Amino acid sequence: KESPAMKFQRQHMDPDGPSNNSNYCNQMMRRRNMTEGWCKPVNTFVHEPLVDVQAICLQGNITCKNGKPNCHKSNSSMNITDCHKTSGSKYPNCDYQTSQKERHVIVACEGNPYVPVHFDASV
Ligand code: ADP
Repeated sequence: KESPAMKFQRQHMDPDGPSNNSNYCNQMMRRRNMTEGWCKPVNTFVHEPLVDVQAICLQGNITCKNGKPNCHKSNSSMNITDCHKTSGSKYPNCDYQTSQKERHVIVACEGNPYVPVHFDASV
């Protein structure tokens, strides 16, 4: 079974990106199985080495959007791509807008080892 840490990597890690193509989200959301059963409305991919994203769990501790205390904000800004479902998108034809950004990344961490399990926000 897929662990929460593996699910985070599937949904949010793409170290070899970003591809500068406007179809990036349409391709990646499907390839990473986020268009099975529904179109996941919002999702961010991080284009940095896995070790650098795992290290965020040791960086500034903040409260998550849901009020839990296990979020951490990256010290550095990171290369990311935000995927937003377009208003006209209708399952099973999931259609996304692709936007590349440089932002500080906020993730929730859990477990031992203490690793990212949820992408909370970028700022
Ligand atoms: P994502 O939120 O990264 O898009 P999911 O919603 O599929 O992905 O999975 C998030 C997982 O992280 C869930 O298993 C959830 O229980 C876990 N989790 C742990 N801490 C938090 C938190 N503070 N906020 C939200 N989810 C959290």
